[in-house]
Amino acid sequence: MTTITERLNSAINSIASIQKKYSIAKDTVGLLAVSKTKPIADIEQAIAQGQRCFGENYVQEGVEKIQHFDNLELNWHFIGPLQSNKSRAVAEHFDWVHTIDRLKIANRLNSQRPTHMKPLNVCIQINISDESSKSGIAPGELMSLAQQISTMPMLTLRGIMTIGGKGNDIEKITNEFSQMNQLFEHLKQEFATVDTLSMGMSNDLELAIKHGSTLVRIGSAIFGQRQTK
Ligand SMILES: *Cc1c(COP(=O)(O)O)cnc(C)c1O
Repeated sequence: MTTITERLNSAINSIASIQKKYSIAKDTVGLLAVSKTKPIADIEQAIAQGQRCFGENYVQEGVEKIQHFDNLELNWHFIGPLQSNKSRAVAEHFDWVHTIDRLKIANRLNSQRPTHMKPLNVCIQINISDESSKSGIAPGELMSLAQQISTMPMLTLRGIMTIGGKGNDIEKITNEFSQMNQLFEHLKQEFATVDTLSMGMSNDLELAIKHGSTLVRIGSAIFGQRQTK
């Protein structure tokens, strides 16, 4: 049986070898371990291996895990779709949100973030494949939303995020990821706090890193298949 420890190590090794293959500097790509639906015991194994950044999609489940590990220095990223009525719990507990897709949710998080906490790190989600089933804004809307977020004291604009299109059309995914990379470069020029391109999951890791991802989000390749909710 392959353990979480072994799968985590092999994910770390694949990231390193992809970086090497494309001559990308070491330690420029972070690993977010997506622990959604997985129990505390699984997360403990990843922590024992040195993993510190975890991604969660469901507010209640994420908050329970954050509270459980309250005494450890971990980084918790909210990566699921965020409804307005759940924004307070996210603002009060998470370190990051990757799925900002409208001004209203940014305003709520900014006003709900407790002032004794560090500002919440946020990424704007881009619907780069323009699939109507996907959340995220169109690329053309990015600069104006980023501008508004950059004025909010309790949010720090860190970058952009996308979920790659489904299927194995390498050319299409390549095209989308390189568009994301261009948007990221443009955003970095405009906003000094921007340093994160959140892109790439278990099955499109290599293309994402090749196209400049700085943070890959890996779930099943570390924790195993999930039961569908
Ligand atoms: C579930 C999820 C992941 C992890 O997906 P895997 O295919 O299990 O690696 C990454 N990003 C987002 C936004 C997710 O919802």
